[in-house]
Amino acid sequence: MNTLTLDIVTPNGSVYNEDNAEIVVLQTTAGEMGVMHGHIPTVAPLKIGHIKVTKDGKSDYIAVTEGFAEIRREKINILVQSAESAEDIDLERAKSAKQRATFYLEGDKEDTDKKRAERALKRAENRIEVAKFK
Ligand code: ATP
Repeated sequence: MNTLTLDIVTPNGSVYNEDNAEIVVLQTTAGEMGVMHGHIPTVAPLKIGHIKVTKDGKSDYIAVTEGFAEIRREKINILVQSAESAEDIDLERAKSAKQRATFYLEGDKEDTDKKRAERALKRAENRIEVAKFK
């Protein structure tokens, strides 16, 4: 079976690399997208969510924030603000971030602060979900 190379890169450097992925499932702003070797080259915007990488019948889950996937026939490059493999997620940290964001959202702040808090809440909830795949 032909496989794919996957690289997940953030401003802090490479977070995940797999040279023999059988299928990579991305959560794009337009919905879920399964990518296998030979996919038509494209660029897809990603939403806060996870990337599922399957190899030898086993899957890895990586939490990601907003960014882009560059898809080529043999390779996917993911560029996102932050990414953590399920096993690297600090659950307590994510729970505290969720609490902080919820506190802001319940308060009487200006709109810009609310938008920021809403995104922080999404990141925290996403990490809490992905940590379940540890
Ligand atoms: P926090 O308020 O806890 O910093 P955040 O959503 O503001 O959360 P980000 O700005 O998305 O954090 O990420 C900053 C850095 O911290 C990134 O390198 C990211 O991978 C890492 N990070 C954030 N939250 C966690 C977590 N719960 N577990 C592991 N790494 C995390």
